[in-house]
Amino acid sequence: MWAKMLDKFHDECGVVAIYGHPEASKMAYLGLYALQHRGQESAGICTAHNGQIFTHKSMGHVADIFTSPVLKSLPGEAAIGHTRYSTAGDTVLLNAQPFSVVCNKGKIAVAHNGNITNAGELRTELGRRGSIFQASSDTEVILHLMAHSSERTMTGALRDALLQLEGAFSLVFLAENRVIVARDPHGFRPLAVGEMEVSGHRNCYVFASETCAFDLIGAVYLHEVEPGEMVSVGPEGLTRERWAPEQPRAQCVFEHVYFARPDSIVFGRAVAESREQLGRLLAREWPADADLVVPVPDSGVAAAIGYASESGLPYRQALIRNHYIGRTFIEPSQAIRDFGVKLKLNPVRHLLQGKRVVLVDDSIVRGTTSRKIVRMVRQAGAREVHLRISCPPTISPCFYGVDTPNRGELIASNHTPEEIRRFVEADSLGYLSLASLRRAVADERHEYCYACYTGDYPTELVNIEELIGAREKR
Ligand code: AMP
Repeated sequence: MWAKMLDKFHDECGVVAIYGHPEASKMAYLGLYALQHRGQESAGICTAHNGQIFTHKSMGHVADIFTSPVLKSLPGEAAIGHTRYSTAGDTVLLNAQPFSVVCNKGKIAVAHNGNITNAGELRTELGRRGSIFQASSDTEVILHLMAHSSERTMTGALRDALLQLEGAFSLVFLAENRVIVARDPHGFRPLAVGEMEVSGHRNCYVFASETCAFDLIGAVYLHEVEPGEMVSVGPEGLTRERWAPEQPRAQCVFEHVYFARPDSIVFGRAVAESREQLGRLLAREWPADADLVVPVPDSGVAAAIGYASESGLPYRQALIRNHYIGRTFIEPSQAIRDFGVKLKLNPVRHLLQGKRVVLVDDSIVRGTTSRKIVRMVRQAGAREVHLRISCPPTISPCFYGVDTPNRGELIASNHTPEEIRRFVEADSLGYLSLASLRRAVADERHEYCYACYTGDYPTELVNIEELIGAREKR
């Protein structure tokens, strides 16, 4: 029953942690601000001070939630933060993170990026043993597993808990006097370690989903938390420990295709480098007899730059994005065609009139937005629209933390590229091959997960029906 109530809440999140900074909550706030693209539904920060854990979390955007008085109410030199995206109807504050509890191991808070694929079974079992859950998310399970552990220390209990988890998790924990972070043994989701100089302070360490968070706070990127590694920072300094036996790596390639910011280093590789390379290889595989290359902003920009430089065609920003759309716009009661997409994008007729256009985007999911954009470009006067996608067809849902719909809604899962071309009304359509995607991220050692393009999941998904069911509930 619990399993049925479980929703896939931990897709598309950003996490930060900081230890040893006199203004830890402000640093966590700035880190989250830089990670806002990873989740816009809710955000939260916990700090530790004088044996207490202080928490503030709310629905909405980071900059709106953390006002000066709120940050003042979060004292201490250690903090963790989380920003979360969820398409679920159930976006209640109860599921916002970090989660904080007082248990037999002490006071502890946790924030999570990823998706624990066996959370349903663990929850059922914990419920049988008397655990009472406050929220419907999978992250809470970790705290209950820690409370049930017979290990006496916090790190011992954490190790115990982690060993029972399956799936994707980059986790940040806050205890009374330390920060602990951990990554699943496959390393699905990123987590980077940075260092900061703070006058009069030793050992100021920061952790974040993406390094763009470090740039804003002036921290230096050191390295990734290794898959299967736990890093603990306390008064004694930083210690690294492998908590799980080595497993084949399965780093999410979609971070490089779409999700991460191009100014970040993810899995030790510059995202901008991967994205431009995706565009270059796309131009080689799918050249077009055209006049200009136009990106779908912002997702197609870096790949379009790569495509233009490889093909020699001019790059033009002929679709302009309004960056200021909030949640509270008023939709006209009279139907306006394609209102949603017009709200976000507007074509530059002057550039498109009479032109043969290569339109570059990162992916087609359901196909509905792409169709609206192709129509928009054509209505603005383009003579031909050649759609180029900088990854292979998305045919399978993700169970490791990216919000993709089930197969029934994924257009490429049940349609050929030619059928998709007709649906999106493009003159031609080209998807990047899997081999080129692998090349663009320099995956010589087979360290990435491509499940959304291949349907080959790198872990056993024993409860796949349930995972699909949870997704369909949304
Ligand atoms: P559609 O044509 O309706 O499938 O929408 C495609 C658009 O959705 C592209 O511009 C993508 O950048 C964007 N997109 C792809 N994957 C995701 C995702 N997981 N979350 C949000 N947007 C996405």
